[in-house]
Amino acid sequence: MRKAIIEGGDHLLLVPVAEGEYRLPEIDEVTDLVDSVAAEETFAAGTYTGFPIEKTATADYSGLGLQSVGVREAWNMLPADDYTAVTKLTELLNWNREQRFCPADGKALRREGEISKRCPGCGKEYFPLLFPAIVVLITKGEEALLVHARTLKRPVLTLVAGFVETGESLEECVIREIREETSLEVDDVRYFGSQSWPFPHQLMVGFTARYRSGALRFADGEITEGGFFTRDNLPLLPTMPSLSRRIIDAWAAGEL
Ligand SMILES: [Zn+2]
Repeated sequence: MRKAIIEGGDHLLLVPVAEGEYRLPEIDEVTDLVDSVAAEETFAAGTYTGFPIEKTATADYSGLGLQSVGVREAWNMLPADDYTAVTKLTELLNWNREQRFCPADGKALRREGEISKRCPGCGKEYFPLLFPAIVVLITKGEEALLVHARTLKRPVLTLVAGFVETGESLEECVIREIREETSLEVDDVRYFGSQSWPFPHQLMVGFTARYRSGALRFADGEITEGGFFTRDNLPLLPTMPSLSRRIIDAWAAGEL
């Protein structure tokens, strides 16, 4: 059985396999380490490929050949099954810390199933929270819109993004976010793919859309700069593996 060992909240301890490739450690590879860490929470071992534990500051893994890799970066470095386990376990840790009391009557929730808790007062069952968000590549002929959001730390240009609001569909969210952030109208909204993004509680859903009308104007202040770019004249893009980068790369390769 493999284990996802979370270090400092956002890093994993992984076994290097080849250049840029890793896997989760087997349990017997980390026995010494496991003995010296405090288990944050144990989950039914048979269902997941491991349970998350948090490494204490004093635990020494230097002799075990493990390397510390950011959870975000691990998306491109782990086998898909391992990464799915990591995102699920990361979310379960978040959930266990943050959703502890019933919102209706304040009673402490009790763990019921592997991904459910129940209130002993009113009997209501609660599941881990999930907040869907969209990213969308807008094409206009041979060009695509790339923008810099106020919240981005690096000087990169990427896709229009936003959280789904209560009561709207994903497609309605795409159209609303584009209208609010860029003043553009689009059509031909198409699903591209999705990605679990547990930092925390997010599900990223990727789309493409076709420019229909309007003049580019970053009206609501969420976007600070941006414009339409051709494939042979791209600005600095996010290097971190992300759904946005995957959509941009697919468009740049002519695959959309
Ligand atoms: Zn309750």
